[in-house]
Amino acid sequence: MTIDLSTDVSVIVLGVMQDGGLPHAGCRCPRCVEAFAHPERAGRAACLALIDARMEPAGVWLIDATPDIRWQLGDLAGVLGPHPQRPQRLRHPDGIFLTHGHFGHIGGLPQFGPEVMAANGLPVYASPALSAVIGESAIWRPLAGGLAWRDLFPDRPVELATGLTVTPLAVPHRDEWGAGTFAFQIKGPSRSLLYVPDIDRWEEWPAARAAVAAADVALVDATFFSTAELGGRPPVAHPLVPDTLAYFGMDAARLVLTHLNHTNPVLDGHSPERAMVYRSGAAVAWQGQVFGL
Ligand SMILES: [Zn+2]
Ligand SMILES: [Zn+2]
Ligand SMILES: [Zn+2]
Repeated sequence: MTIDLSTDVSVIVLGVMQDGGLPHAGCRCPRCVEAFAHPERAGRAACLALIDARMEPAGVWLIDATPDIRWQLGDLAGVLGPHPQRPQRLRHPDGIFLTHGHFGHIGGLPQFGPEVMAANGLPVYASPALSAVIGESAIWRPLAGGLAWRDLFPDRPVELATGLTVTPLAVPHRDEWGAGTFAFQIKGPSRSLLYVPDIDRWEEWPAARAAVAAADVALVDATFFSTAELGGRPPVAHPLVPDTLAYFGMDAARLVLTHLNHTNPVLDGHSPERAMVYRSGAAVAWQGQVFGL
């Protein structure tokens, strides 16, 4: 991936799939069979990079550490540049913001452990409860020295540079550890972007409409288009795409759909479901997409 950064501050989409990616482990659906046969059609787990090209070298932060992180860091090779001590390695990102503790959002963290990148004091921003869950688990202990946890609190902005803030917003989402889930509002010098990769129901987040209305662009949970994708399993707590489009009404034009399950027909360029998304004024995110902020 070549990244052309024409604006000072930008967000790059490094993945648009639900946690399991495309192809999905153990799946023989036509879309996954196709992606197994043609790896260039594979899709990575949902992830953003936030780049501040005003800094030298550029500031680079990831939103979530996905199981596909080695490819996603590779996509950023031109922006990261060489590691200061090890010129054949990439410089580490300046920090990672975690939305929540599910596999697709933290599964890449062990890549910073002693077996691979051996990070040293890599800032990882998370809720105190999430960093505690990870930090207290024996199997994650080898990582402990490599990561420098930074606490995130709802509605409290983190200022990364002049005119560049990341504000965590607490959203309702399946919460096995009482560690919560964050959406992030990213404000650059001229525009703002809202990132909500996982949420149970829009109706359970009273600030949802205001948060979308306040954003220039909102990348939102579009895991499933319909319950037909669930193969008879009980309904999963994610809003369905048509309901999301209807819920935001006129502001659907600000929505860019991400965190797509491998079953979601909007992944297909010519599906009626995808046409319906674009008719509503919304769009579907793509790997490599850049938003200037
Ligand atoms: Zn997820
Ligand atoms: Zn599949
Ligand atoms: Zn989740």
